[in-house]
Amino acid sequence: MIRSENGYFGEFGGRYVPEILLPALTELETMFNELRDDPSFWQEYLTLTQEFSGRPTPLTPLRRLSKELGGAQIWLKREDLNHSGAHKVNNVLGQGLLVQRMGKKRVIAETGAGQHGLATAIMAARLGLDATIYMGADDIERQYSNVFWMRQLGAEVVGVETGARTLKEALDEALRDWAASVETTHYVLGTVCGPAPFPELVAYFQSVISQEMKQQAMAQIGRLPDEVVACVGGGSNAIGAFAAFLDDPEVALVGVEAGGISLKDGEHSIRMLPNTGETGIAQGYKTLFLQNEDGQLGDTHSIAAGLDYVGVSPILAHLSQTGRVTPDMALDTEVTEAFKLLMKTEGIIPALESSHALAGGFKRAKTMRPDQHIVINLSGRGDKDIFNIARAFPQPEWSDFLQRESERAKELFDATKEGN
Ligand SMILES: *Cc1c(COP(=O)(O)O)cnc(C)c1O
Repeated sequence: MIRSENGYFGEFGGRYVPEILLPALTELETMFNELRDDPSFWQEYLTLTQEFSGRPTPLTPLRRLSKELGGAQIWLKREDLNHSGAHKVNNVLGQGLLVQRMGKKRVIAETGAGQHGLATAIMAARLGLDATIYMGADDIERQYSNVFWMRQLGAEVVGVETGARTLKEALDEALRDWAASVETTHYVLGTVCGPAPFPELVAYFQSVISQEMKQQAMAQIGRLPDEVVACVGGGSNAIGAFAAFLDDPEVALVGVEAGGISLKDGEHSIRMLPNTGETGIAQGYKTLFLQNEDGQLGDTHSIAAGLDYVGVSPILAHLSQTGRVTPDMALDTEVTEAFKLLMKTEGIIPALESSHALAGGFKRAKTMRPDQHIVINLSGRGDKDIFNIARAFPQPEWSDFLQRESERAKELFDATKEGN
């Protein structure tokens, strides 16, 4: 399993935060260290995910598609079948249990596309906690359906009006809240990034994905897969899919980043391939960040909001540096092709993030033999994301429909604001 050395994975990781946040991080680390090797805590976590989120998620063979591509046998790990439609809820439920153990009553989070905010609001409602979700005002406009549901679930959604009114400003605002409320409040970090102990703690909860995958592969294939492929935003679904295989060198582990429009600066979100990310310290930790010559964080692009991030997990930065994880990338055009192919051949609607793993996995499967097996982690489902996906497939006959629907949804959303 994944263990840091004093919060570091090789040269990456650490805890670079204002003094005022140190006691909360230490408290969290102490609680986590007490519980991580306690089988009854892991069992409590598994029971919550089983009763509430539908775990274990299936391992689905893609028989028709494997035949069509003519290479390896392709399997999907179905994180899309979790409650709320993605793997994010695994981590959030786990942190919810830690919050209860620490005796805190309130959680805060920041969210860009809204998925992590929604998962946090769902967890808070289930466990009886107060939730405040910070979101850039522009992101609120774009992601009104997630905001609508967060409010219905009882969470307070705070629109942040400063700066560019997006995720970065929401993060600053959430940290300001936490500095003033650490005694009563837990900050729910959404991925395997940020200051220690968050990367290790999020990896611990997400490792449920590969633990199940391993058992299912033994039962359904009769041996371990030859490759496991996952998309990489912050890295939590990838590390979740890889963790149980780290000591099985016969299983290749492949992380697919967003190649975006092109490999030009500002048109992609690739941090682990050569000549992309460089070591730096930002947002409380040390990792590979996309940066310009002056060390300022660079611009990123991805067709999938969840992969549009300037840093990457210190755990993955380390594992790619040591060669255990192979970085790969998929361009927007390859992603939309893979998306359509899965839908039409197998009847599964993937998230755009997950379609990066599909694009990378399909390409690799074609070069493999039919007696080999490749598991692709399907991190989330796409049908909850209809507007963003429809926009990714520009078709003139849809534009009126999209315009009308988004206006209607905004009206509905505005109507809930007054009542919130
Ligand atoms: C958020 C998200 C991701 C990216 O986050 P990771 O931490 O890299 O896993 C990937 N897929 C889906 C469906 C998401 O919602």
